[in-house]
Amino acid sequence: MMVLVINSGSSSIKYQLFNMKDRTVLASGLLEQIGEKASRLKHRTRQENGEMEALVQTDPVTDHIKGFDKILGVFASTGALKDSDELFGIGHRVVHGGETFHKPTLITSAVIETIREQIPLAPLHNPPNLLGIEVTFARRPDIPQVAVFDTAFHQTIPPQAYWYALPYELADSLHIRRYGFHGTSHQYVTKAAAQYLQRPLEELNLISCHLGNGASVCAVRDGKSVDTSMGMTPLEGLIMGTRSGDIDPAVIFYLSRKTGKSLDELDALLNKESGMKGICGVNDMREIEDLAAAGNERARLALDMYCYRLKKYIGMYAAALGRVDAVIFTAGVGENSDLVRARACADLSLLSIILDEQKNKEHASGLSEIQAKDSPTKVLVIPTNEELEIAEQTVLCIQGSENN
Ligand code: ADP
Repeated sequence: MMVLVINSGSSSIKYQLFNMKDRTVLASGLLEQIGEKASRLKHRTRQENGEMEALVQTDPVTDHIKGFDKILGVFASTGALKDSDELFGIGHRVVHGGETFHKPTLITSAVIETIREQIPLAPLHNPPNLLGIEVTFARRPDIPQVAVFDTAFHQTIPPQAYWYALPYELADSLHIRRYGFHGTSHQYVTKAAAQYLQRPLEELNLISCHLGNGASVCAVRDGKSVDTSMGMTPLEGLIMGTRSGDIDPAVIFYLSRKTGKSLDELDALLNKESGMKGICGVNDMREIEDLAAAGNERARLALDMYCYRLKKYIGMYAAALGRVDAVIFTAGVGENSDLVRARACADLSLLSIILDEQKNKEHASGLSEIQAKDSPTKVLVIPTNEELEIAEQTVLCIQGSENN
């Protein structure tokens, strides 16, 4: 059973082809700079010995339709998928599902229109996601396709946590509320935690920290998301690579008056020029750690601020949950930075979270426990796999619709 997962950007298509029988990746790749002369396809195909063989093509690809055809062409020429008729389904990542989409949804023309209606809520992210869906749906309407939303996992957040304290009618009429993002990743790692701990997910209280370029923390009670640090957009919450995270909203009015920048310019400032990049000029955590170790004061400050904000969120969600069975670290920084994990969990014995420094440092890859023997709360490092989660949800959604 083959499933193709597509994450479409404005000038790129990222994809993975899964054999869902054994959840192996048969091929994966990234087609970049669509519409430019220097389009580039970086593709990898699984060989019989399990190794991935790389291939790079640099001929121009004028639009997403040609891009999709090119990807199917490479699947055929490399033998990963001889005929696209073999596809059981296609899963599409969609960032914002608004209040309409609570779960993965089979794509129809009506669903495409409803996703289009959510564009004002996610003007940066949803249009390119939608473009990918429209292209593949127009090309292959015969293959079942599913939209998997980053916001869907958080639709269980209760009103007290999703409302902002704005005039109610105004917020309600404009759909201003916390939606939350990274839902596919938080869902994947919480399921993996339950499997690892051999306990039903419905019984577990968890704090999931997804720390990539974008970053968010999610409070999970009885297996369901009950709060998360990202809000109406991915700008709220933790300090991220280039996003400010939480900030006094009045700073924006002050900046506008003082600098004369337009709202669009301030939007870009907070989303693209702030966060770690804004503080120390660099947004890659590896580089920041190296700079801090070499004595760079700004990098140290950025790291201090990043870990302090993260620790505050862990504390906040421990208070919200009352009992925490495990804290989970995932994504690029969460899986790889023992320094960030150590500092985020430092002096949290009051909250029953005690790290084993050695285990934390020794963690290399895969899933591992890094809490001390006497720590009532487990601390887990779990590699995320958003593409596999999308593929699994795609299969479940298609099978569910066939049974109806
Ligand atoms: P994305 O949100 O783009 O999917 P990732 O989950 O790949 O991001 O995370 C990217 C971040 O992970 C970058 O800031 C990168 O520096 C960081 N990262 C990757 N490896 C390490 C490492 N060994 N130590 C510290 N940070 C790391």
